[in-house]
Amino acid sequence: MGVGGAARFFVEAADEPTVAAAARWAESRHVPVRILGGGSNVVVADDGVDGLVIRIALRGVASREIGGAVEVTAAAGERWDPFVEHAVAQGWAGLECLSGIPGLVGATPIQNVGAYGQEVSQTVMAVRVLDRRSGEIATLAAEECGFGYRTSRFKSSEADRFVVLAVTYRLARDGGPTVRYADLARDLETRGIRRPSLTDVRDSVLAIRRSKSMVLDPDDPNRRSCGSFFLNPIVDATTFARVERVVGDASMPRWPDAGGSVKLSAAWLIERAGFRRGEGPGPVMLSTRHSLAIVCREGARAADVAAFAREIKVRVEERFGVRLDPEPVLWGALSVEP
Ligand SMILES: Cc1cc2nc3c(=O)[nH]c(=O)nc-3n(C[C@H](O)[C@H](O)[C@H](O)COP(=O)(O)OP(=O)(O)OC[C@H]3O[C@@H](n4cnc5c(N)ncnc54)[C@H](O)[C@@H]3O)c2cc1C
Repeated sequence: MGVGGAARFFVEAADEPTVAAAARWAESRHVPVRILGGGSNVVVADDGVDGLVIRIALRGVASREIGGAVEVTAAAGERWDPFVEHAVAQGWAGLECLSGIPGLVGATPIQNVGAYGQEVSQTVMAVRVLDRRSGEIATLAAEECGFGYRTSRFKSSEADRFVVLAVTYRLARDGGPTVRYADLARDLETRGIRRPSLTDVRDSVLAIRRSKSMVLDPDDPNRRSCGSFFLNPIVDATTFARVERVVGDASMPRWPDAGGSVKLSAAWLIERAGFRRGEGPGPVMLSTRHSLAIVCREGARAADVAAFAREIKVRVEERFGVRLDPEPVLWGALSVEP
């Protein structure tokens, strides 16, 4: 988002011993630690971070074939999209719908990165971590990661405990692409593609994302965002019935979720609460192409982002009784709570 202040202490860690030494250094001085990947999903307070920021710069990719599958291990500092591009080029299926997502490999298990019908939890086999509690390096199986919708053990119950060092994905060798998402199927149809390859799906995903300013493009006026600012809210059946009554519009998007719960579209609720794309207070506004993205303009500060997010949150809650939670992680003295 291009806002926020400096870190009190900063280290770029290009290998595992440096990560471990930095964590020990902070521990011994009681200095709080923040782990930074590509920074695409954090909003840093204007006062900065009063602690040590460890920027993950571990590199390397290795793969081994097992039957019809391939297990690919990428170091946490590898850039995500080139890694996806590599998998697609090799004919390894399982990540193609996640093309164009900014950031690094190590962040993908944190919020169980997902888009267009795929989530990394479907392919993550193991996550190599530094456990800051014990100081040991460990390998967690996917079942131990507590993956959920845009969340995991690393983001919720044990945020701050683990530093992700590498991730192993199990991909299908010569597998077909996933085409589950309506927008994606439509784009392929428009292009006259009936039996899409992994590359076709990657191209479609990138084109759709570009049309929504959801790839990082230095020439795009909407580029200063952290993607979706709010998660799609998941409500229980009773709340859903109430929201439906209040809204009184059968076209309201909804997706059935586990245990009778319903996932709603945060973007739709935000628009219905009266917010318009391309509008906002002063130096922050909603993206002109996506009503879930808060975009910064020249002179924006983290406080402006938080104030606008708060306004959106309050109005959606007043209007529909639905609580929106932010997707990005807020660092320092920053809150979007009213
Ligand atoms: C234009 C745009 C579009 C986006 N689209 C999507 C999308 O479609 N789907 C989606 O899921 N997300 C999306 N995002 C959000 C973001 O790209 C992802 O969450 C991405 O995985 C963040 O990666 P990063 O390396 O930039 O992480 P950062 O922003 O640096 O960090 C995010 C969080 O992960 C933690 N973290 C990062 N690396 C590690 C590590 N190695 N070990 C421990 N903790 C770590 C950080 O401490 C922080 O809490 C989008 C963002 C933008 C800007």
